[in-house]
Amino acid sequence: MDRQQKPRGKIPTWPSISRATTPSPEESHEQAHHGKFATAINCIDGRVQLPVINWLRDNLSVDYVDMVTEPGPDKILAEGTGTAVDSIKARVLISVNKHGSDTILVAGHHECAGNPVARAQHEMNVRQSVIRIRSWNLPVKRVFGAWIGEDWKVEIIEASQG
Ligand SMILES: [Zn+2]
Repeated sequence: MDRQQKPRGKIPTWPSISRATTPSPEESHEQAHHGKFATAINCIDGRVQLPVINWLRDNLSVDYVDMVTEPGPDKILAEGTGTAVDSIKARVLISVNKHGSDTILVAGHHECAGNPVARAQHEMNVRQSVIRIRSWNLPVKRVFGAWIGEDWKVEIIEASQG
């Protein structure tokens, strides 16, 4: 089933949302240790959130995707300096250490307002970003670099162990 095609009339009303998302303290503790997490370092752009979440869920059977977003994160990580990199790293560390994420995906995308360069430059930035993330020596199984083109589909351009 295509997730994008859900009829709008089926949005639950507030009382059912409240019941579904407010677990008791015991359940809350249990849920913190349930489910498999992955980490995405993605653009703030609203067009690239669901493609990345859905790709990770469909291809790696993860339950949840922690999103670390910046405008043009591939440029920030490729340039590799400043507080923006430290901020990304701090958020990734929470996802890895507190949620046990073992997969990180960094993406560049078509028509990026935060990094308005051609695809070839994005691909270079994404590869440099993967090298940067690996230099953090995180306890993860894999780091992916991805490109999201004008069809808004995730294409893996770099896959690295650990
Ligand atoms: Zn962007």
